[in-house]
Amino acid sequence: MELDEVNTITVLGAGNMGHGIAEVAAMAGYDVNLRDINDELVQDGYEKIEWSLNKLAEKEAITQEDADAAFDRITPIVDLEEAVESTDFVVEAIVERMDIKKDVWGDVDEYAPEDAVFATNTSSLSISEIATATDREDQFCGMHFFNPPVRMDLVEVISGANTSEETMDLTADLAEAMGKTPVRVRKDVPGFIVNRILVPLMNEAAWLVHDGTATMEEVDSTTKFDLGLPMGSFELADYVGIDVGYHVLDYMHEALGDRYEPCPLMVEKVEAEEFGQKSGKGFYDYEGDGADVPMDETDDEVKERLLAVLANEVSYLIGDDVASASEIDTAVKLGGRWPKGPAKITDEYGLDKLYSALTSAYEETEHPRYEPFDAFESFVDEGFYGDAGGEEEGTVDFDTLELHYPGDKVGHIELSRPQQMNSISLELIEELDAALDILEDDDEVRGILLSGAGDKAFSAGADFMSIAGGGADPLGAVELSKFGQETFGRLQDTEMPVVAAIDGYCLGGGMELATCADMRIATTRSNFGQPEFKLGLLPGWGGTQRLQRIVGMGRAKEIIFTCDHFDAETMADFGFVNEVVEPGDFEDAAHELAAKLAGGPPIAMRYTKRAMEQGWDDTDAGLEIESMGFGHVVGTDDVHEGINAFFGDDDPEFEGK
Ligand code: NAD
Repeated sequence: MELDEVNTITVLGAGNMGHGIAEVAAMAGYDVNLRDINDELVQDGYEKIEWSLNKLAEKEAITQEDADAAFDRITPIVDLEEAVESTDFVVEAIVERMDIKKDVWGDVDEYAPEDAVFATNTSSLSISEIATATDREDQFCGMHFFNPPVRMDLVEVISGANTSEETMDLTADLAEAMGKTPVRVRKDVPGFIVNRILVPLMNEAAWLVHDGTATMEEVDSTTKFDLGLPMGSFELADYVGIDVGYHVLDYMHEALGDRYEPCPLMVEKVEAEEFGQKSGKGFYDYEGDGADVPMDETDDEVKERLLAVLANEVSYLIGDDVASASEIDTAVKLGGRWPKGPAKITDEYGLDKLYSALTSAYEETEHPRYEPFDAFESFVDEGFYGDAGGEEEGTVDFDTLELHYPGDKVGHIELSRPQQMNSISLELIEELDAALDILEDDDEVRGILLSGAGDKAFSAGADFMSIAGGGADPLGAVELSKFGQETFGRLQDTEMPVVAAIDGYCLGGGMELATCADMRIATTRSNFGQPEFKLGLLPGWGGTQRLQRIVGMGRAKEIIFTCDHFDAETMADFGFVNEVVEPGDFEDAAHELAAKLAGGPPIAMRYTKRAMEQGWDDTDAGLEIESMGFGHVVGTDDVHEGINAFFGDDDPEFEGK
């Protein structure tokens, strides 16, 4: 079956996940049959969808007409035969019990049309085994949404032992049509990708405390403030539900052996029914202070152990051809909201160091969780994970931008759509994201220069023609806005200094992009503005938040509300442009500024950027990072180099060590 032949989708189970999946499918324009075992349950899910659609309309994420139209496309049904007899695609989100799932799928197989494709949303059960309940194992796969489906972008599309490529393609296409990002999981392994990474990490955190290697505060402080993950490990367990993590782990333990033995600390919590936030108490007490993770208890040994376990799991997934490094990173970034993927984090730390940390821990404890997978050793020999099946980094062909390496440790991203005034298309945002990956991975690059090709524009704004496809529907527009905000925000978050070099128009989305740079240099003929209001739009790529940080609230309102154009000198007076130059001097001056910043001390730069950015909203957090950074840099070779150069009246050569 092809995507354009799918009109009706049946969702089995109207619970937490089922009602969310039905809502997403209806918003994407599909007719949806929502089925549960009795009228009360199906009505309950149906009402939750109505509430959620109205909430989206209230927040103006979609119009009320679209909310009503989506709701009208959903039919609540109790009779299973009626729910599937003329459907094209079935997603099952019923209770997580193999026997019940198999029973239901046996019936569905009997009633559904022969060409209908089947997918289960199971979090942990074997896709291949569930599929055996049907006579169409080739038309059966996993379609694993994340909770809540309306908000979470990721869908893992999992191949069972006998799933055909057509079924995988269709399901991935369907996930995309629903506005999600599919990641293919080529083998039906317990935990798939995201849980296979997050759950053993959670378990390892618990083991470190159980074994007396560290305290809970040290582990969480390290996870959150050194590794930079969104939550501490115990904080995350409490948030997700310790029972939920335990359940997946227990299944992995059963299926894969003692490597995944749940730590007794987790077992105790589950037995005491202290599940975390939802029960008021877990590892932290939510009737008291809740999860108050200290910033200053990070510990290098904890970091290395956690990363070693992580690298081992990543190695297994790549080595067994379940997914490539970039697919794993995409999945965990979207599904776990990590700022960087686990392959990238561990690769940056050094696979050799992590391998030796893992083997020493194995020798010391003899616990099977530290036994290295064969693939890990071979990746250490190669020095990196490679990217089997994914796009080879460094060899990416860009269509909308060019990457240059002008020397002096500068990576130069040039928006290269001069015929379209370097306007920003979806593809350009995607390519910008990929280009930043490449530059961040390149040890030779210490600073980024961003410019537009030609002499007309840095960028004249969003490419409405290309974006209308993805953004005409409100949900697509919300996603598009978020995607742009996040990708542009990477310039702000990257550890390297970023210079935007502006010659010509710098308008709308183009100006929002330039706003994310650390410094801006512009020619005298440049022209700035946020003209969104003229189109009845608003700045959707960070303009309502980031501009005021640079020019102050009053000027930001002036720029956005008036839609006026401003010249470079005025923007320099506003504090937006750092340096104004004549067009003839532009290229040299831009490169010189980028090279000057790239020649700075990388470690001090990293902490300073982080402290300044985070301290904007929270001075205490910023000051904390500042003192941590200060403590970190004093012992580095860079400081030694800086002081020697100062007294020797020389230019320092910083190594970032
Ligand atoms: P839930 O308990 O909220 O909902 C399950 C629904 O299935 C209930 O309404 C129940 O009445 C219904 N049901 C039970 N037997 C049925 C049957 N024979 N036919 C039709 N419906 C039946 O559970 P949930 O959290 O929505 O989880 C559903 C599935 O999604 C599970 O497989 C789970 O592993 C998976 N999942 C859950 C999450 C999550 O975070 N909750 C995330 C991803 C995947």
